[in-house]
Amino acid sequence: MIPTHRDRPAVDPALWADFLKGSRLACARLISLVENEPRSVPEVRDLLIPRRKGGIRIGVTGPPGVGKSTVTASLARLALKDGRAVGVIAVDPSSPFTGGAFLGDRVRMQNLLDDDRVFIRSMASRDGRGGLSPATPTAADVLDAFGLERIFIETVGVGQTELDVLNCVDLVVLVLQPATGDVIQALKAGIIEIADLFLINKADLPGAESLLDSLHFLFEISAARDGAAAPPVLVASALKNEGMEPVHAELERRIAGLAASGRLAEKRRLRLEHEIRESIRECLWERFAALAGGGRDIPALAAELAGSGRSPYPVIREICSSIILDKRKEASSREKRGQKRLGRKVPKS
Ligand code: GDP
Repeated sequence: MIPTHRDRPAVDPALWADFLKGSRLACARLISLVENEPRSVPEVRDLLIPRRKGGIRIGVTGPPGVGKSTVTASLARLALKDGRAVGVIAVDPSSPFTGGAFLGDRVRMQNLLDDDRVFIRSMASRDGRGGLSPATPTAADVLDAFGLERIFIETVGVGQTELDVLNCVDLVVLVLQPATGDVIQALKAGIIEIADLFLINKADLPGAESLLDSLHFLFEISAARDGAAAPPVLVASALKNEGMEPVHAELERRIAGLAASGRLAEKRRLRLEHEIRESIRECLWERFAALAGGGRDIPALAAELAGSGRSPYPVIREICSSIILDKRKEASSREKRGQKRLGRKVPKS
């Protein structure tokens, strides 16, 4: 994902100018660009990063059907009431925001859709190959640079890709519902460890109390194991709009706490570190793939080595050093070309 300059599609200057003027259409088109053209991500980010305003990214996750969209809509409304501009990115394919739910749910979202301080966008969490789409974090950058102060990212908390989406946010709200065994599922998926706030939704249905007990029991175990402080657990009914104000207040308290303690800056620094590492890894892989026919020989190599009792590492070392040597050759011939242009005598190597 490191810029290659030669083959990157450019961001249309008129589109960028419209975006800077606050055009919602330009905002939507910029997100479509990163979604449809992943190669444009570095350039779009080059433009966006100096324009970001520090909007807070809140992941809202949980198993399908627990009420994530209803909760997100309610939290978005409360943030609007505070006078904040709000963005919603729905990476959950069944979300009413993405058009995947019953008409009744979509109607409930309608009053949000009508407010022009809200920008709602649905997108895929995966790229064509099943990996994390770089479009989701970049779309959050777009909304941040657009001036949205609370950016909700709704995602189904089931697989690794969804967990990766959550690594792109400042704070995670895990939504659960009574009497479904969701806790076990969430435990298995590894979400419990990364959630900053637990919300037991559908408190109008029976079983909320016993879910609350199970969660407290879980936190006691982890406190005894590694001294971890128990995260807040709140109980609400998003559908009936009961108990959501304390959830919003707790969320804002957490945000203020993260900012004041320096944890927010630290989280963002760690995300940047991760991005730099991943981009270098990807860039090197692309280079290898270009040299070695897209890595097509790897299955043959594995077939040759499997069961042979031979370690793959001599071959791996050979491949890696050939990439490095190739890169050095390229750099040295570039230098020679430069010196020739300057009329200097170039020694033979
Ligand atoms: P998601 O798939 O997690 O995004 O869940 P949705 O927000 O689409 O909600 C799934 C279903 O649960 C919908 O029919 C909602 O109307 C319903 N629902 C959401 N919140 C509540 C609630 O607090 N109580 C009850 N009884 N139903 C709810």
